[in-house]
Amino acid sequence: MSFADLGLSDELLRAIGDSGYTEPTPIQEKAIPAVLMNKDLVGIAQTGTGKTAAFVLPMIDILGHGRSRARMPRSLILEPTRELAAQVADNFEKYGKYHKLSMALLIGGVQMGDQVKALEKGVDVLIATPGRLMDLFSRGKIMLNDCNLLVIDEADRMLDMGFIPDIEEIASRLPKQRQTLLFSATMPPPIQKLAAKFLTDPKTVEVARPATANINIDQQIIEVRSDKKRDVLRDVLRAEGFKNAIIFANRKTTVRDLYTSLKRSGFAVGQIHGDMEQPARIAEFDRFKNDEITVLVASDVAARGLDVKGVSHVVNFDVPWQPDDYIHRIGRTGRAGAKGTAITLATREDAEAVAQIEKLTGMKIPRTGQAASATEAVEPAEEKPARVPRPARQPKPKHGSREREQPQPERAAEARPAPVQQPLVERELEPADEGGWNGPLPSFLSVGLS
Ligand code: ADP
Ligand code: MG
Repeated sequence: MSFADLGLSDELLRAIGDSGYTEPTPIQEKAIPAVLMNKDLVGIAQTGTGKTAAFVLPMIDILGHGRSRARMPRSLILEPTRELAAQVADNFEKYGKYHKLSMALLIGGVQMGDQVKALEKGVDVLIATPGRLMDLFSRGKIMLNDCNLLVIDEADRMLDMGFIPDIEEIASRLPKQRQTLLFSATMPPPIQKLAAKFLTDPKTVEVARPATANINIDQQIIEVRSDKKRDVLRDVLRAEGFKNAIIFANRKTTVRDLYTSLKRSGFAVGQIHGDMEQPARIAEFDRFKNDEITVLVASDVAARGLDVKGVSHVVNFDVPWQPDDYIHRIGRTGRAGAKGTAITLATREDAEAVAQIEKLTGMKIPRTGQAASATEAVEPAEEKPARVPRPARQPKPKHGSREREQPQPERAAEARPAPVQQPLVERELEPADEGGWNGPLPSFLSVGLS
């Protein structure tokens, strides 16, 4: 399925093309046609699945017809945090570049005066956090009588932050005859109630969470000391049967460091992470597809939606913080009926995260002795950091994509004393001895973004 099949305008398709997206994500595929038909919609899909574009894209086409009036926004998007609101605004700018839509952002921390000025001119899209909107509303600075499209985004997060009463208040001031869209990663009862109260005969589209791993994937855990991870990784990349690999790390700093280190070791390596713009990520990915590189180091953010056939190995250089991510990561191999190997490097501190993964997949992942030499020594107790839970959502400074490798955990992790790193022994690569992985990939290898 391509974006062109969804009924979007040519201008929009052009802007989507410019942004580098080649295919809609499942939630986009399901939601966009319904929104274009002016249906109320409940969209449920886990974090990072592209829910923003699922409403921003059809909204641009809907709002493309008609004009704004002073102080009466034509549509309203509610976001739980100002960072998320800013991301949505970025999305409107990116996809709306061939449309003439006006937009105002009503969030804390921005001069109220400027926001009011923008509103007075009249806007097509108002993006707001509930608190700031209520504030302006109570001062009579804004009228919602003409607002025929309401989006309640990140509804479960709104619930966590105590915004439901505000949302009810706001929704009840909008015209009854309107289109309402609600997006959420989960649907706890209070959100179901909210949907029942403020949506009319909504279509519900849901993308199931991946809960089980593919049986074609041979999963292994290598227990390793953190200062031996790189050595073990090199062994994996040089082992027999290795053809190519995507290596996942939890932080983009690790992605960069690993990339540099592997390159120095002579591997044909590339990297993708959240600091790179989409076109740069795709270019790097194309190098992987075209066999110019056989190792791709990636962060979760950048790797989302990558569809590659013919990847022999996925290596988790770090155990992912969220068990869902594990399934997502290892699913990059073993595609289209092919066999794949997924190797996870786990230190003692990862025991809890590994247990979570095994609980989710309902299976015990075999531990291998492959790295026996690297596991004999125990880690000094003082190196054990407190596990920092990853926040559910995090803002990104630029261009609207979610940055999970950047926020708190990274900072928290970097605040702790650096682990003792052994100097790396960099061996020169001898392609003839590498089990043929440097050779051409089979012809069925194909790559695309899904
Ligand atoms: P959600 O709101 O579901 O948590 P976002 O809308 O923030 O997710 O999108 C997550 C990431 O996916 C962003 O980096 C976004 O740029 C990217 N993305 C969205 N749609 C696509 C697509 N069709 N193809 C590739 N990447 C996409
Ligand atoms: Mg979102």
